[in-house]
Amino acid sequence: MSSEAQRYIENTYLGVVARNPQETEFHQAVKEFLETLLPILVAEPKYQKHSILERLVEPERMISFRVPWTDDVGKIRVNRGYRVQFSSALGPYKGGLRFHPSVNASIIKFLGFEQIFKNALTGQHIGGGKGGSDFDPKGKSDGEIMRFAQSFMTELQRYIGSDQDVPAGDIGVGAREIGYLFGQYKRIHGGYPAGVLTGKGIVYGGSEARTEATGYGAVYFVNEMLKTKGMEIKGSRVIVSGSGNVAIYAMQKAEQLGAKVVACSDSDGYLHDEDGIHIETVRRIKEVERKRISEYVLEHPGAVYTAGSPQIWTIPCDIALPCATQNEINEEMAKLLITNGVKAVGEGANMPSTLGAIALFQQAAVLFAPAKAANAGGVAVSALEMAQNSMRQSWSFEEVDGKLHEIIRNIYRQTVDAAEAYGQPGNLLVGANIAGFIKVAEAMLAEGVI
Ligand code: GLU
Repeated sequence: MSSEAQRYIENTYLGVVARNPQETEFHQAVKEFLETLLPILVAEPKYQKHSILERLVEPERMISFRVPWTDDVGKIRVNRGYRVQFSSALGPYKGGLRFHPSVNASIIKFLGFEQIFKNALTGQHIGGGKGGSDFDPKGKSDGEIMRFAQSFMTELQRYIGSDQDVPAGDIGVGAREIGYLFGQYKRIHGGYPAGVLTGKGIVYGGSEARTEATGYGAVYFVNEMLKTKGMEIKGSRVIVSGSGNVAIYAMQKAEQLGAKVVACSDSDGYLHDEDGIHIETVRRIKEVERKRISEYVLEHPGAVYTAGSPQIWTIPCDIALPCATQNEINEEMAKLLITNGVKAVGEGANMPSTLGAIALFQQAAVLFAPAKAANAGGVAVSALEMAQNSMRQSWSFEEVDGKLHEIIRNIYRQTVDAAEAYGQPGNLLVGANIAGFIKVAEAMLAEGVI
């Protein structure tokens, strides 16, 4: 039985590699997921009988399109846009848009695949999707960002809708970009279709606490995980990689809960401030001034800025929160963290640890909070934004934050319970993957062969 399930997993993985050559990030996400499913596939042969894995790894739809736009000197530029509508088993496709030069089909598919199970864990009725473009927002003027966003939406609009597919932000897509995207959607469709995008500004239909949600959620999750081991975030030394939306609010919540955040980074380098990072300075530099974090040392000369962002993991810490991007912690960095005594790792970014790094954390008994569970707070509050839009209501910050906290506690409980029920107590990677998988697989069984 077990060897048959094992073969089923291996064959599904080999099929993914053969059908999607060179999509290495997608292969990695699928491998990490499938390898944890053995106990559930052994316990429930119906999933194999109904070809659930083969269906799950093939997106319902993968769209790619041309995005022409005119830069400030009048030159016409062309980027490629994507939207993967991976699974609608649980609800309308839901997931962010990433604008970054590294974006390609592999990255969009890995993100869309992960999103299916993350969204399932939130307990809300949202399917999995993702999109974006290889457009690089760095160094672009406000006008260029707006013209690009308008062109991107002119094509994307035909595939999305509040009951169909609801994009939001991700790397390179924040409140400003969502505003331009929403404006263009509204211009084309008329009316006031508030629920077509989430991450909107509060004044025009966004939700309180959506900006903070991913970072706050990651810290809530890590705190739950620590509490069950008799530890707490209070008094710990924390490193948060990145300095975008996830990182800033992870730092803020960690500090509110009594931790000392000693380092953060951007794609050029990292900041080390033994006094504790002044989060408000980082927030202003990034969100308001849109500059690089190297500027920070001009205001806080006690801090040290070093070029080269992965080296942030050379600094000793109790808790590491990778909140920058995929594969930012490789085996070498994982070894350094372990040697320096890290006790817990919480993934705020999507797939920030390589497969080898995860294996090392598990061998060293480092508490490991996997991305699908730990960073689900963002999309969970996106679903709360959709609910508020449908009801034409606006809830207070406290109300949304309270719901977020409860959703994260619930994800933690499901994750722990599934890990225990399927023979790997404490392994939250296994627990998150299996708990998310069961919901999606059961919906697929109920909905027939589609
Ligand atoms: N991009 C975020 C994520 O990775 C949020 C997606 C959303 O709010 O739809 O989950």
